[in-house]
Amino acid sequence: MVRLIAFLIVVGLLVAGAVWMAENPGAVTVHWLGWRIDTSVPMILLALAVLVVVFWFIRGIVATLLGLPGAFGRRRREKRRRKGLAALADGFAAIIAEDSYGARKKAAEAQDALSDDTSAATLLLARAALLGDNPKTARDLNTKLLARRETEIAGLRGLMDEALSEGRTDEAIDYAARAFERNPRAAWAGRALFEAQVKRRQWEPALVTLEAARKSGVYTAAEANRRKATILVARCDEAITGGQTYEATRLAKKAVDADPDLLPARIRLARSHAAEGNASKAAGVVEDAWRRAPNPELAEVYRGLWGDEDALKRVSRAEHLAETNPEHLESRLLVAAAALDAELWGQARSRLKAPVDAGVRDPRLARLMARLEEGEHNNLGDALRWLRQAVEVIGHEPEAWRCTACGTRAAKWDASCQACGTFASVTWGGGRALVTLPPEGVPSPVDRPEAAVAAAGTR
Ligand SMILES: [Zn+2]
Repeated sequence: MVRLIAFLIVVGLLVAGAVWMAENPGAVTVHWLGWRIDTSVPMILLALAVLVVVFWFIRGIVATLLGLPGAFGRRRREKRRRKGLAALADGFAAIIAEDSYGARKKAAEAQDALSDDTSAATLLLARAALLGDNPKTARDLNTKLLARRETEIAGLRGLMDEALSEGRTDEAIDYAARAFERNPRAAWAGRALFEAQVKRRQWEPALVTLEAARKSGVYTAAEANRRKATILVARCDEAITGGQTYEATRLAKKAVDADPDLLPARIRLARSHAAEGNASKAAGVVEDAWRRAPNPELAEVYRGLWGDEDALKRVSRAEHLAETNPEHLESRLLVAAAALDAELWGQARSRLKAPVDAGVRDPRLARLMARLEEGEHNNLGDALRWLRQAVEVIGHEPEAWRCTACGTRAAKWDASCQACGTFASVTWGGGRALVTLPPEGVPSPVDRPEAAVAAAGTR
């Protein structure tokens, strides 16, 4: 709208000017080199306007002619740049394909085409050298990358990988620490540094790294909580070994707060309360943990709390704990063991029947069945068969401490897996089908213990 009004004003002024010029033509006479020109003022103005237009036109042509070599050079440079970028993309694709030769070839092409900035080509060459098992070249190239702030982290990564491949662990960790300090979002550096610190049981520095890594998003909240609680449990174990009972309780409490689902934390908290003589607190922790996940180590702590009570009283204690998770195998084993101590044969048998019928293979179940057969009916033959089964199925318990990374069974919980070294990977759980249901029509192992022994032997 504003433009339209401005346009109308300009047109109006021009028309008014033209009309005024037509009404007042005036007269101009020019004498020049023996010539005499008689004309009007409007004609002089028109001639001037034509001269200006012709001048601009000629100037444009001259500028285009002068600029041609520059434009040609620009096009050539642009073509080279595109070729260089394509070589870089192909080179990094070769790295992903683990083709060291192809990557080196493309890096050379990129270096040639992008001669004014070769840092990306250097990065490519460094990765190719690592891939091609050429550590000396890789080290030189990665060291070169440290010079620029933009490529420094990549250089440190290359140097760390190279140091690790040569077995220089300390040096590798220094590179990871430097990279993580420069950029806390460098996930590889945060993880490498943390893993190295926990492997060396440097718990305090590991907690500092973990907090920084959580803040920068290297670890999710759940991952960070599990790792923090695992460190606290490891420190708690060290405090127990050192006889620091109060410190052990404090650390176990902190571990439960950090990750309420970490079973070893609850087991240690229960043990610590028991060691301090606080049976009711210990029982509370065990009952809470039992509701989440029953476990033989929890059962052991619980039994320890009431060891001096009479056998019948201990059965009711076991029943009380089992109530929180009545169908679980651990609950059945706990009550059955207490019932056998009290010679309550019927109660023991009723608790053991379901897992025996389901074909559960557990040495503790088999030992309890042997005690039952011997105690109730003095049936030494059946008792012996159950004991044989107990030996056969050792190591085949439905649930055990197991590494979630490599699947290896562990006799006890540890902060790191003894087999593969992964931190915070040992959990309580099943590594395979928990029960073997007998095929229909086939008598269960409770009727034919020798069948169970044979079946266990084939595993
Ligand atoms: Zn493992």
